[in-house]
Amino acid sequence: MAKSPEEFKKQMDDNFKVALSEHSHVKKVIGIVSGKGGVGKSLVTGLSAVAMNNKGYKTAIMDADITGPSIPKMFGIGKHNYADETGLIPAVTEKGMKVMSLNMLMDNETDPVVWRGPVIAGIVKQFWSDVNWGDVDFMFVDMPPGTGDVPLTVFQSLPVDGIIVVSTPQELVEMIVEKAINMANIMNIPVLGIVENMSYMNCPHCNEPIYVFGKSKIESYAASKGLDILGRIPLNPALAEKCDAGKAEDIDEDYLASLAYVLEGMIQE
Ligand code: ADP
Ligand code: MG
Repeated sequence: MAKSPEEFKKQMDDNFKVALSEHSHVKKVIGIVSGKGGVGKSLVTGLSAVAMNNKGYKTAIMDADITGPSIPKMFGIGKHNYADETGLIPAVTEKGMKVMSLNMLMDNETDPVVWRGPVIAGIVKQFWSDVNWGDVDFMFVDMPPGTGDVPLTVFQSLPVDGIIVVSTPQELVEMIVEKAINMANIMNIPVLGIVENMSYMNCPHCNEPIYVFGKSKIESYAASKGLDILGRIPLNPALAEKCDAGKAEDIDEDYLASLAYVLEGMIQE
């Protein structure tokens, strides 16, 4: 019998989906996106994961920023190249989060990844199909910036339950982040909301907030797009220091409490 246009379209979408390893059980997949690099996407990925792990959820991070990986360093993970008959085995952080990143598999972490887009996108698919993740409540996927091949692959191949958009005040002005949001909309992936990073800085003397990039426009922006604000992170040198030292798990600032609330709601559905 002929397929209806809807069935045909659904089959097209399903063709892209990659099967999860039979050894993995992942409840929710959350992508972290940004319009451009250097806005704190990996920091937000790390802090989101730490927040949920601290609440007792089984938490994992997939580093899909293949050419610009920073997750292993943030958590003090060096080379971890280990597999058994069940698949590739993720590294485990001090507090028990599972992490997979191409950087851990490389002989030399400063070696550049010199593969073209389709190969890189293929690695992300393998991180889904060939890694034994075990039981995971929340998997956070640190996406590459922008709207290129790899974000497209992640959106098409993985069952992403929602994305968190990270932006700086400056990026909001430049409307770069909007492309990432529009891409998620086109792919029918729910946008959970926006986190503003480097939103302000607290004066080290009097603790007054200083709006380094001018007064934030996040409220009016979020309202105009119907987005929830999930958190505002100040420029705080202590954050960069802990990330550089591989101690991101020791960050105990509660910048992402609203985000954690939204995520908890998703798993109780
Ligand atoms: P992206 O993943 O978007 O490229 P990162 O999360 O790696 O960005 O952040 C870029 C650099 O800026 C990192 O060294 C990070 O530690 C630092 N950084 C990010 N956000 C902050 C912040 N709010 N305060 C201090 N340093 C930050
Ligand atoms: Mg990054």
